Amino acid sequence: PSTTRIAVVTGGNKGIGLEVCRQLAGNGGITTVVLTARDEARGAAAAEKLRALGLSNVVFHQLDITDAPSVARLAHFLKTRFGKLDILVNNAGIVGLEYLQDHIDGTPTTDEEKFVGMGMDQRLELLLKWCLRASPDAGKICLRTNYHGTKRVIGALLPLLLASADGRVVNVSSEFGQLRHFGSADLRRELADVETLTEERLDEVVSAFVSDLDSGAAAAVESRGWPAGAFSAYMVSKAALNAYSRVLARRHPSLRVNCVHPGFVRTDMTVNLGLVAPEEGARRVAAVALLPAGGPTGAYFQDRRQAPF
Ligand code: NDP
Repeated sequence: PSTTRIAVVTGGNKGIGLEVCRQLAGNGGITTVVLTARDEARGAAAAEKLRALGLSNVVFHQLDITDAPSVARLAHFLKTRFGKLDILVNNAGIVGLEYLQDHIDGTPTTDEEKFVGMGMDQRLELLLKWCLRASPDAGKICLRTNYHGTKRVIGALLPLLLASADGRVVNVSSEFGQLRHFGSADLRRELADVETLTEERLDEVVSAFVSDLDSGAAAAVESRGWPAGAFSAYMVSKAALNAYSRVLARRHPSLRVNCVHPGFVRTDMTVNLGLVAPEEGARRVAAVALLPAGGPTGAYFQDRRQAPF
């Protein structure tokens, strides 16, 4: 049996992902951590930063989870270099508010976009302003990233995970994805019923949400029982990711497929307003990645414990 242990982290250039890379690389049991990022320069610089800390087992590879050729290139790299994958941490994600398009289309240009010199109250005010600007387009990018993108990565790397003696998938989810946020009891029931739920049906549920989002009326989204408010698309994306994890866990009993809420973490995503440091958020993610062999699968972790979806 192979004595190497290979881990891949998506969205590894900053925030929780970067910390997960650092902690996995320093763990001792992991041979290589592939830090991936959609931006070559930012990703390579982040990996270099970790190597400068003495973590010579960190390598960089480009990965944009919404870009099929990019995902295929990573799969090819892993297959030829290692022939398997032991740990996949799906951390890359966006919250899906309109301001993020500034980051998607390029780098933020104004001081306001970079939060330069702002106090907490000013940041909060900005955040509220952005929340009010949540748009269908931003919501769609959120689903395309958090749900469809993550699924694409899992699909492409699945043969390599199955080639491991102890393949693990850790999906960085959110308490915003918990089913209690859905107003519709039917949706809650359907997403929770993993005995019956299929990937195809899950895709249909997500498409139905996108149609309601496209109708343009926030009221339509709410009246159909989707999570209400500016974070609606984000909540649906994480709930769908949770449900997909459970479907996958059932389909591949040899893998450990789990979801984890990292806490409310101080990163760019929260305009650094979170309650816990990235180190602590990442510890919760790494702990799930490093659970003892034969541990739970199809589970959701929050506050270091298993919790209901
Ligand atoms: P950050 O915004 O700091 O980091 C997000 C990371 O995801 C960045 O590396 C970003 O890359 C990357 N990313 C975004 N889109 C893509 C893409 N298409 N392909 C590849 N990478 C992409 O956020 P956090 O560190 O806070 O978030 C990490 C995860 O934790 C997310 O899944 C988030 O939903 C989840 N989470 C975070 C919470 C928090 O309080 N912070 C709470 C609950 C869950 P780039 O730098 O290029 O934008």
